[in-house]
Amino acid sequence: MLKGIAASQGIAIAKVYKLEPPVLNIVKRDSNPQEELEKLDQAFTKTIKDIEKIKDVASKHLAAEELAIFDAHLMMANDPELRNQIEAMIKNDNVNADYAADAVATQMIAMFESMDNEYFRERAADVKDVTYRLNCNIAGVEIPNLSTLDEPVIVVARDLTPSDTGSLNKEFAKGFATEIGGRTSHSAIMARSLEIPAIVGAKGILEAVKTGDVLVLDAINGEIIVNPTEEEIKVYTEKKEQFETEKEALKALKDQPSISKDGHKVELVGNIGSYNDVQGVLDNGGEGVGLFRTEFLYMQSEDDFPDEETQFNAYKAVLEGMKGKKVVIRTLDIGGDKKLKYYTFDEEMNPFLGVRAIRFCLMKKDIFRTQLRALLRASAYGQLGIMFPMIATLNEFREAKQLYNEEREKLIQEGIPVGDNVEVGIMVEIPAAAVLADRLAREVDFFSIGTNDLIQYSMAADRMSEPVSYLYQPLNPSILRLVKMAIDGAHAHGKWCGMCGEMAGDEMAVPLLLGLGLDEFSMSATSILKARKLVTELSYEEMKEVANEALNLDTMEEVEELLKKKI
Ligand code: PEP
Ligand code: MG
Repeated sequence: MLKGIAASQGIAIAKVYKLEPPVLNIVKRDSNPQEELEKLDQAFTKTIKDIEKIKDVASKHLAAEELAIFDAHLMMANDPELRNQIEAMIKNDNVNADYAADAVATQMIAMFESMDNEYFRERAADVKDVTYRLNCNIAGVEIPNLSTLDEPVIVVARDLTPSDTGSLNKEFAKGFATEIGGRTSHSAIMARSLEIPAIVGAKGILEAVKTGDVLVLDAINGEIIVNPTEEEIKVYTEKKEQFETEKEALKALKDQPSISKDGHKVELVGNIGSYNDVQGVLDNGGEGVGLFRTEFLYMQSEDDFPDEETQFNAYKAVLEGMKGKKVVIRTLDIGGDKKLKYYTFDEEMNPFLGVRAIRFCLMKKDIFRTQLRALLRASAYGQLGIMFPMIATLNEFREAKQLYNEEREKLIQEGIPVGDNVEVGIMVEIPAAAVLADRLAREVDFFSIGTNDLIQYSMAADRMSEPVSYLYQPLNPSILRLVKMAIDGAHAHGKWCGMCGEMAGDEMAVPLLLGLGLDEFSMSATSILKARKLVTELSYEEMKEVANEALNLDTMEEVEELLKKKI
């Protein structure tokens, strides 16, 4: 059995089609510039035609967003800059067209790959794709065209270029496996968009298979079986059918509200780390974003805290991307295990109990004010909630809110638009905040319970320590009681209460949280539809009773037993 990364979930069983693109042998030759320029001209014309054809095929099964890649390729193939550079080299150095094209491309690729910006780094793949096609056309060799597949196959390749994935026709391409690549590689993203099972980074696959072999591609577990037995085919055919039935049932819930069978409505939203995660939330039926962890913006920055403009653009992009749906952005949560390249934190015995999150921001007010300004400016572009992490006392909240109000006032004075319905809340992730929730709720707009930290601080068990990880017990009655305090505290003052720790997407915990009255569940995008299915099958009134029972049990194990019996 071969292993790789399951990049697009599903199971496929079919014959192998091994994609073996021609290997070009490009060597420098003294040449007649006139002849080479003609060759180049013909190759450019054919390359443009080829890409147009691929785009045409791809437009039948790809969304406009993915098709944009072919427009980028066309632009590149029509780009006078690329062409001029190749032509100049042919004329000046008397070299052959393919050598010149390869040399210019190599330089461009190196330049793109060295860039800080992810967008530009990705462009390197496009240059490779277009110039490879150009060189094949100069050499007069055909690139295998996946759009001509006419029987069900699993495509096996070293890697797939955007043109390859764009040419895949779902009717015949049942899945693919590549030797290289990761979850965020081009081919992986395309596979998810096409919704065909794919495993990337399957080392050894090219050696292990030949065209015509039969493969089981288990892109749920990242496993590949070459030439399976009849028994294995039977087992995986059943798994495949089960997976597809479940997937269809979940898809039907994408645009449905999250309502229990007795009519109690909650919100299921997504946790994100950057703009790149927005589409995933929408595709999975997320009703908003419940936690945008902004620290990644700070951690990605190389030499200084990100400036106001950079932050404004990042927040605005997410708000616009979510198309008016609620987006809760958390202010900087740095410290603990999260460090910055350009800032040295003072040594502490217990960094998780030290200068972290809001504590850091209240000590470094300039940095905090910059973020608040960027957030406030972005608030004009959607429905924004701002929350402060690690609030332990009311005074911390008051101080943070005061800074927020001051920055808001300044922006208004400057005539810069800010949203007028921004909600300002806190994360409840320190037991002190849960215990005092009924008081905090008088002043905040909402709570979001951060159970990852709430459990660590309640159990006094470092979340990074493996030996004490048994104390991560979301279902322990002690944790359930703290969660209840937060929810009841919020409701007593007409405020809403969400949860953005891992517990919110935990299938065991969801029924209890529903029963405890949680209003908003924020989780990784891929958990949303499963949680929605669960909520729609549960009765709120019954879950209230189950939750009450759970609160009065002694141990986590007893709560688990109760859930097994009742759900
Ligand atoms: C939490 O503590 O539950 C939380 C969501 O925040 P983080 O995991 O980023 O600390
Ligand atoms: Mg936390």
